[in-house]
Amino acid sequence: MRSLFLTIVISFYFILVKGQVSPIGQTVITEWQYDKTGAVSITYDDGSINQFKYALPVMERLKVPATFFVITGGMPGSKYHGKFIGRPVKEIIAESATITTNEQNFFERCSAAGYLGYIGTITYHTKSAGLYSSGKKEQAYKLIDELYQKVRNGDFKPGYQPCDEVLQEKGSTWDDFRRYAAEGYEIASHSITHAGMPGLDSVNIVYELGKSKEEIKNQMGASYTFSAEVPYGYEDERVMQIAYKIYPALRNRMPEPWLKEIDRPSKKTPGNPDKDYIQWQREINTRAPLPVMKSWVDTTVARHDTWLVLVIHGVDGLGYEARPSTMLDEYFQYIKNRDNKLWIATFRDVTKYMRERESAKVQDSQRGKKIFVTITQPLDKTMYNIPLTIKTYVSSEWKKVSVQQGKHKELVKTAYDEKGTYVLYQAHPDGTDLILSGV
Ligand SMILES: [Zn+2]
Repeated sequence: MRSLFLTIVISFYFILVKGQVSPIGQTVITEWQYDKTGAVSITYDDGSINQFKYALPVMERLKVPATFFVITGGMPGSKYHGKFIGRPVKEIIAESATITTNEQNFFERCSAAGYLGYIGTITYHTKSAGLYSSGKKEQAYKLIDELYQKVRNGDFKPGYQPCDEVLQEKGSTWDDFRRYAAEGYEIASHSITHAGMPGLDSVNIVYELGKSKEEIKNQMGASYTFSAEVPYGYEDERVMQIAYKIYPALRNRMPEPWLKEIDRPSKKTPGNPDKDYIQWQREINTRAPLPVMKSWVDTTVARHDTWLVLVIHGVDGLGYEARPSTMLDEYFQYIKNRDNKLWIATFRDVTKYMRERESAKVQDSQRGKKIFVTITQPLDKTMYNIPLTIKTYVSSEWKKVSVQQGKHKELVKTAYDEKGTYVLYQAHPDGTDLILSGV
């Protein structure tokens, strides 16, 4: 008897709530902007001149946005350049003659390694930072010992030489970057000198990341200080802790509990989602054939939760793992041809959208023939300023809907899905009422 009663109740629920009664007023924030099924961010590291000379014109032609993580210290007119903050390096060099490198002095010696006054020492810094980060501490100490011994022996020519990545940027100016930014491209930080941060002490990490941020703020404006990529893709805990105090978003790693991350070296693919979003990083390199690259896009289109973050370094023979711009052209066309399904946006904008959506609260109510929707979110509104795409179910008699938020008013066409008639519209989640009325 009881089970029959339950069956009747459940049946009525499906008929009334899920079926015949249209959920008028019901409002959700769509997973991606414009209700797309996935997001793609194209990102470039190191700011090599060929990225701007050969890849950027392709993207401009296709009207595809991107993020460029640039090294700020080598740009003409920059205020902050690479330097070592600490004791005079002569003292450190002298001390290395009697005390071998160990846990206590490693960071100081590795931080100073590029600034000892000689050409060719920076690679010792880069390599030992990498060894230290991967847990090979003894090897890192040994390499630093080798460097300081060579310095004491006079094996290097005097002078200063930065990383290759800094030299590859030659040809770009801050004026150029401001011009690209005006077209919608995101210019973001990749540190001052492309330093190996896991080998730096905290003072020098703060300098590399903090002053690079200040430089970009002065040159470009505060809206370009949102994202950063700590060089070499490190996810080192100590470095990330410091970096997150300086930048709200790092491509290296994100702090969100609702975001699953598949990083660049991983062979995993987006599987069964246990989180709201997946950030799927893929590197465009010599080991990734074009059909495989296209399959990443297909997977993203077929899902609803995936943010494909593409990482590009070298272009047309210049830079790490360089790929031809003709191939990028074909690939970007492939992506652009799917933009009815894909939201193609900068790393910054996608991050902001997800964070706003995850923290937003939606309220809807009906008064007379009008629907009122209010969206609020607790984040800093000067920073989190991306409009959210809202989906509201309306009366099936409405053909067009007037949506008003403050002084802004727009007329939106209705559409249908299995639940009923709805409208999609853009809204600022600032607590200002949205008023929907049928036309
Ligand atoms: Zn880099």
